[in-house]
Amino acid sequence: MMKLTVLGSTGSIGTQTLEVVRERGDISIEALGAGRNIALLEEQIRCFRPRLACVADERAAKQLKVAVADTETKILSGSAGMEELAADPASDTVVAAIVGIAGLASSLAAVKAGKRLALANKETLVAAGDLVRSALTKSGGELIPVDSEHSAVFQCLEAIGTERRRTELKRIILTASGGPFAGKTRAELAEITPEQALRHPNWDMGAKITIDSATLMNKGLEVLEASQLFDTKTEKIDVLVHRQSIVHSMIELTDGAVLAQLGVPDMKLPIQYALTYPDRLPMQGNTLDLATVGTLTFEKPDTSTFRCLALAYEAAEKGHTMPCVLNGANEAAVALFLQKKIRFLEIGELIERTMEAHKPIRNPGLEDILEADCWARETVRHLQQMA
Ligand code: MG
Repeated sequence: MMKLTVLGSTGSIGTQTLEVVRERGDISIEALGAGRNIALLEEQIRCFRPRLACVADERAAKQLKVAVADTETKILSGSAGMEELAADPASDTVVAAIVGIAGLASSLAAVKAGKRLALANKETLVAAGDLVRSALTKSGGELIPVDSEHSAVFQCLEAIGTERRRTELKRIILTASGGPFAGKTRAELAEITPEQALRHPNWDMGAKITIDSATLMNKGLEVLEASQLFDTKTEKIDVLVHRQSIVHSMIELTDGAVLAQLGVPDMKLPIQYALTYPDRLPMQGNTLDLATVGTLTFEKPDTSTFRCLALAYEAAEKGHTMPCVLNGANEAAVALFLQKKIRFLEIGELIERTMEAHKPIRNPGLEDILEADCWARETVRHLQQMA
C-alpha cells in the first residue's frame, strides 16, 4: 500500500489529490500539511486519520491541536514542521501542493529524504532548480510533475525513453489556455478587476494561480519549470495558446514528429499518474470525446501585451537568482492586485522594474535564494508605495 503525505492538503491540488485517494482505496495518508484552513484540515484528519498533520500558521496550529485532541493525529506547526512531514520516514511519496515560495523548503526536504516527490509547486524548480536537481542526484529520489503541461511532456517523453531524449528531442511545446483575457489589448486590460481576473474559462484553481494564468505569468513560470525538469534550454521551449485546454502539451522530435498528450481538463489524471507511475490505472469520468469538442485551435501568444511571459524568458536568460526574483516579485505584485492596491497591468511593470534593479547572485544556495525572494518582495512594495 502506498504511504502518502500531502503538503497543501486544503488547496485546489490538495483536495483533488484526496479525492483520488478516496476513489482508489489503496493509498494510506500518513501526513497532511496546510496553511491556515484548519476547519477543512480537521475534516480531512477525521476522514483520513493521518499520523501527523502540520499547520503553517502557529496560532491556527494551537487551535487545531485542541480541536482534534480526541484523535491519534499529532499536530506540528510552522515551516520546520512542514519539513519534518516532508522527510518523515513512514511515507514513500510526497505531494507538494503548497502554493508559492512557501513550498520550497519542504519540497527540498522531501527530495533530500529520497522520496517520490509529486510536484505541483512550480516555484520550487523556478527558484531553486539547480539545488533540487543536485539533491535528487545525491538522494536517489524521484520527481514526477503534477502540473498538467509538465505531466503531458513527461508522458510524451516516456514514449521515446530517457536514453534518446538527449539526441532526439528538438522542442517542447507548452500549451496555454490564454486565460480569460486572450485577444484583449493593453487598453482593455488596464481596467480589469480582481473579480474579472479570477474567472478562468477552463480550469478551477486557487486565486494566485488564476491571476498568474490571466497575466500569462503562470506559463512563464511553467517555461522555467520545464527547462529545469527536462534539462532543456528555454530557447527550445515554445508556448502555444490553445483555448480548449485539450492538448496538454507536446514534444517535437528531430525528424519533425510531434507527440502530444490529450485529455479532458481535469487535474485528477496528472495527479493519479504522478502517484501510480509507471502504471496507468482506470479513472472514472475521464473520457475525451473529440467529436463533441469539434475544433482545436492554436495561436501564438501576444507577449507584447502579456509582458509577464516575455519577462520569464528574460529571467531564464539572466539565470542565477533572476528567476527567483521574477517569482518573488510576481507573488508580491499579485497580492497587491488582489488587495486592489495596483492595477492589472502594474503587475508586469513592477516585476520588470524589480528585475532591472536586481544583481543576480551566482550559483545561489538556499539562503541566497530565500534572501533574493525577500528582496524582490520588498522592492515591489517599495516601488508601489513610491508611485
Ligand atoms: Mg499548468
